[in-house]
Amino acid sequence: MSDVDAGADGRDMAGMLELKIIPVTPFQQNCSLLYDSETKEGVFVDPGGEVDKLRAKLDEHGVTLKAIWLTHGHLDHAGGADQLREELDVPVIGPHKDDQFWMDEIADHWARYGHPGMGRAVVPDRYLDDGDRLELGGVHFDVAHTPGHTPGHVVIHNQDMKIAFVGDVLFQGSIGRTDFPKGNHAQLIDSIKTKLFPLGDDMRFVPGHGNMSTFGQERRTNPFVGENATMGPNSSGPG
Ligand SMILES: [Zn+2]
Ligand SMILES: [Zn+2]
Repeated sequence: MSDVDAGADGRDMAGMLELKIIPVTPFQQNCSLLYDSETKEGVFVDPGGEVDKLRAKLDEHGVTLKAIWLTHGHLDHAGGADQLREELDVPVIGPHKDDQFWMDEIADHWARYGHPGMGRAVVPDRYLDDGDRLELGGVHFDVAHTPGHTPGHVVIHNQDMKIAFVGDVLFQGSIGRTDFPKGNHAQLIDSIKTKLFPLGDDMRFVPGHGNMSTFGQERRTNPFVGENATMGPNSSGPG
């Protein structure tokens, strides 16, 4: 899969921050590079692995990385964070502390999936909690704690840019798996309905895997959590 340039909207949606989506790891996890087009300061959201590829992307756009933001502790989302922190001296921020047990096991999990060395365990410099705020280039992002897929999952969103980074909570036409340790389907559905959908139908979101969508489209049509949903818990697909 080639890199996705979300920048057709990147400028007009905000005139503030540019967004590039870079699929990484064998799981094709959507790492987001978000940066200020003037100062060239940026953050990665969920740099799950392939650090060399991510650093090349920074160089391509002349971006200086300021921080790493994590939505949850799974290997494909958090596996590259420790190496990037070491190489670029930037803080790792998020997820919620309840995901530390996942982050402790990242190296072992990559080995179990047949890709030893793909990622490292990581302890964030700062955990996130519901109601916290993050900032990049004068743009403030709000944090919602959204357990269900993992207990410490967070979603990072901004109302002016109409963009949310939802990790593996919600996908275009699907929802996060809940058949992992400490997964909880009822909690996941509650997170989506009480924390995400109220942010507005016009909110676009970057999921951890696959195409972008909007909360409105998913509220209307998602077979797991939309208005006419008929599907029960999801136990397949990307984690
Ligand atoms: Zn996950
Ligand atoms: Zn994932």
